[in-house]
Amino acid sequence: MTPETLLKQYFGYDTFRTGQRELIGHILAGEDVLGIMPTGAGKSLCYQIPALLLPGLTVVISPLISLMQDQVTALQTSGIPAAFLNSSLSEEAYRETLSAVYRREVKILYAAPERLETQSFTNIAHEIPVSMVTVDEAHCVSQWGQDFRPSYLRILQFLEQLPTRPVISAFTATATKEVADDIVRILGLREPFSLTTGFDRTNLFFGVQQPRDKFRALTEFIHTHEGQSGIVYCLTRKLVEQVTEDLCEQGISATRYHAGLSDEERRQNQEDFIFDRKDVMVATNAFGMGIDKSDVRFVVHYNMPKNIESYYQEAGRAGRDGSPADCILFYNGQDVRTNQFMIDNSSGNDLLDAETQARIRQQDMERLKHMTFYCTRHECLRHYLLQYFGETAPGYCGNCSTCQTNYEERDISVEALKIVSCVYRLQQIGLQFGVNALADILIGSKAEKYDKFHFEGRLSTYGILSELTQKQCTDMIRFLIAEQWLSQGGEFHAVLLNTNSAKLIKERPSISMNIVKELPPAPAKRRSGVPEDLDEKLYLLLKETRKAIASKEHVPAYVIFTDTTLQDMCRKKPMHDMAFLSVSGVGQVKLEKYGTRFMRVIRDYASGNT
Ligand code: ADP
Ligand code: MG
Repeated sequence: MTPETLLKQYFGYDTFRTGQRELIGHILAGEDVLGIMPTGAGKSLCYQIPALLLPGLTVVISPLISLMQDQVTALQTSGIPAAFLNSSLSEEAYRETLSAVYRREVKILYAAPERLETQSFTNIAHEIPVSMVTVDEAHCVSQWGQDFRPSYLRILQFLEQLPTRPVISAFTATATKEVADDIVRILGLREPFSLTTGFDRTNLFFGVQQPRDKFRALTEFIHTHEGQSGIVYCLTRKLVEQVTEDLCEQGISATRYHAGLSDEERRQNQEDFIFDRKDVMVATNAFGMGIDKSDVRFVVHYNMPKNIESYYQEAGRAGRDGSPADCILFYNGQDVRTNQFMIDNSSGNDLLDAETQARIRQQDMERLKHMTFYCTRHECLRHYLLQYFGETAPGYCGNCSTCQTNYEERDISVEALKIVSCVYRLQQIGLQFGVNALADILIGSKAEKYDKFHFEGRLSTYGILSELTQKQCTDMIRFLIAEQWLSQGGEFHAVLLNTNSAKLIKERPSISMNIVKELPPAPAKRRSGVPEDLDEKLYLLLKETRKAIASKEHVPAYVIFTDTTLQDMCRKKPMHDMAFLSVSGVGQVKLEKYGTRFMRVIRDYASGNT
């Protein structure tokens, strides 16, 4: 057996993705490895395939019970002897699993790091030859990681008391050097082969929007993705509650997740989402770690998150199956302040001294700034993200909101002069306003809240940019602030004059800015969310079949086949075994288990019986 044949036979794929084959090769050569690959890149295969080829047991240390369960179910469905040991098992099931391990019937054993410290586990590890220990989500060992877990620090102790030292492989999606160094040091990796693959996820569309009414924008977006799974991330628990309630009121099938809910409700809601009983999961960042659901078709950030690392990890939960998916961020200036507040008031980590905590806080502020740039600069979003992770990337990707919106460079010298003059006139009558109100005044808003100022008659610059939309006007003001022709400050973030403002009025330099062209609305997608090139009716029949099997077997639908596999099947319309095997994601076991059933649907459909 070679890695290639195992890939086809068990997982149903023809080719390895970038990095997978190298990592597998080095593990099989007996070397420690560190694989740094983005979410959805396919890290699991990198240790699962060697595990099948190595003589002894592979122990996979995984942070969460739900994650283990899903992975083990998926492996078993593909005919791979895998099991897990954790506190969710009944005493009897636990004992049964242990004896299966003793009988050498298990090749891959998942466990949480806490488990390694138990007597029963140490006993197995002494009696059964352990060929490899894999640490998945290895950033958990690092205090720089997002999800630091002290019990990870004791893995090395476990390894040191084994009769022979197994190969150690570690995997993470966190790309910073600090995290990588910590992993190598804390796990005691010996001259590891370390591989970082490209961070680009080409199937993901990245978008930033600044909707005036976020909730409306959200419901409109969800309606164009009807029947698809998606996650909506909110910054606070309160907002999670509110958005979930409002969505349900609109008839959208939504559920919620945050750290304030009972364990039971969290488990239930997560399961509802994974098993497609609910389409939309509204959650704080507490949700997602340990979610391997591969058919998440969109991730909307209702608020801007605290840094690019979190954003890319959360957004990256979309489209793990490789099919197109959308990652949309709703930006609003308020999000910056909420994040600042959260950083200022974070309780910190008790394990760290004050100096380190102060440094981390400062680093957090710096990261927040980069996140804000992502939302406000008019660069290709993919370019910005990849640059942030230290990769070079072209300035145009064609698959983000910046690239898909046309820009035109326009001379805005006159508008700039009018804006700055307005701030100046307002100051003369003792008034200051924030960006939005200033834009309102410039375009001559008749909103009631301005009545008391009696601008008409007393402010010559009131309404001097009435030809602009509110958005165009706020964009220009923000641009002038970014270019330091104006400042922003004080308790209410008022727009203020600075030394450059005076220069602008006196010297009248020419100023140009990239302005978004107003485009006709994008053509409506199919409401069912079925890709345009597919036979919609057949695809929905295949989905129904998958759903029926999944609920009978009590597994999530994507464990049977991913969306990508179902789409390939819909295109290839296989009617005999060889053709069915050629569908990406169909291995031998799945052919035997499900082939007949799906091919019957396809045949019936082709002969017009449905
Ligand atoms: P990660 O752990 O890196 O986030 P996973 O291991 O969960 O990613 O894999 C994500 C998805 O990619 C899964 O649906 C998996 O089946 C699929 N996948 C992995 N390797 C390949 C491959 N070589 N060809 C096609 N799909 C793959
Ligand atoms: Mg993974």
